[in-house]
Amino acid sequence: MFEKVLIANRGEIALRIHRACKELGIQTVAVHSTADQNAMHVRLADESVCIGPPAPKDSYLNIPAIISAAEITGADAIHPGYGFLSENARFADIVKAHNITFIGPEAEHIRVMGDKIAAKEAVGKVGIPLVPGSEGALASMEEARTEAEKIGYPVLVKAAAGGGGRGMKLAPTPGDLEEAISTAKAEAKGAFGDDAVYLEKYLTKPRHIELQIIADSHGNVVQLGERDCSLQRRHQKVLEEALSPALGPEERARIGETVRKAIEQLGYLGAGTIEFLYENGEFYFIEMNTRLQVEHPITEQVTDIDIVREQICVAAGAPLSIKQSDVHFRGHSIECRINAENPKTFRPSPGKITDFHAPGGPGVRFDSAVYTGYSIPPYYDSMIGKLIVFGDNRELCLARLRRCLSEFALIGIETTIPLFQALIDEPDFQRGDYHIHWLENWLAESS
Ligand code: ADP
Repeated sequence: MFEKVLIANRGEIALRIHRACKELGIQTVAVHSTADQNAMHVRLADESVCIGPPAPKDSYLNIPAIISAAEITGADAIHPGYGFLSENARFADIVKAHNITFIGPEAEHIRVMGDKIAAKEAVGKVGIPLVPGSEGALASMEEARTEAEKIGYPVLVKAAAGGGGRGMKLAPTPGDLEEAISTAKAEAKGAFGDDAVYLEKYLTKPRHIELQIIADSHGNVVQLGERDCSLQRRHQKVLEEALSPALGPEERARIGETVRKAIEQLGYLGAGTIEFLYENGEFYFIEMNTRLQVEHPITEQVTDIDIVREQICVAAGAPLSIKQSDVHFRGHSIECRINAENPKTFRPSPGKITDFHAPGGPGVRFDSAVYTGYSIPPYYDSMIGKLIVFGDNRELCLARLRRCLSEFALIGIETTIPLFQALIDEPDFQRGDYHIHWLENWLAESS
């Protein structure tokens, strides 16, 4: 097992990783920008190193500074968390070249899954169902027209290097195709320096359903069921549920086994998530995230498995502590992402938290790094905590969530708590009857 892990991240996920390390008897090193001097992950870590000024490119994305911090402190592994350098294959290579273990998959897997065309090809070969679309990048307008006719309109133009919803354009009819392609290419070139685009069938009202997997270096793979992350705003997840209210046990077992076998064939190592769109009883792969996800705790709640602990152990070469036959789903879990934002305009609301009280009691977990007197810096993501609630069934989980939201005190800043309080009264949400556009439609109607 590792003796010392450097946590190359900040906020709640840095704390989550610190906690898993401490429970494994591992020393922790926090790295931080000058804006995060007083952050909780810095206070709790055994050691800390300042790696630069506030801007992420100068600190949390500053590879030489992070590697130096690991060498100075003698860390034998680096956990990248999510965001920042977590899906940077070059970083994984550099970490390895310094004889430090990268807590994640092999760089090659990060690289393949980071290119949407290569990812589709790789997972398609091992039996994962894909969205019907063009094979590979489009070489000409002529090819695009022929492919689009084959797929059937509406079609979606997507950038191979895409991320965060950029380089994605809808062509509802043949007359829209040329413009959609040139706009998507220009956007992709600007954002990623790569203008390769491809076509996909546009699904009109799908759900976003993703499967959590974890694999060790001894050939064992377990799948931990799905999360439903259909409630999104601008392609950002807002609230997640495990398991999905839309899947029955047989369907769940079937897709779970398909994914488990596929990951086994890929020879993947560590934690990962396979994201699908789900419509009319069919799954369509959209991407694989080769890292820990924000919403991993709801899976932990319904499986009683500590994903971060397993992730660290398998990176150290240990076999998984569980087999697929040990995975049993129980109850229901929901996560609300609490953002420091105005709940109507979503304008960020950084500043000082003058008073703070988190909800508690049975089945309640609040993953956050905030405390009374903490000042939220304006330089980073506005998510400041995750309220994770568990209940024996979905109805009890919702009742508990309602109770928790009314207990919160986060004074001094604006938060998205009122949004969840309104959402929980919506009959569609109560029935679990929603798709990826539902939340934006609802927000537009209720504004
Ligand atoms: P990115 O990496 O840019 O976030 P994804 O491929 O993960 O792109 O897709 C992001 C979101 O875009 C999905 O969650 C979904 O809302 C929408 N989307 C992607 N592909 C399709 C599709 N074929 N049909 C309909 N919506 C899609």
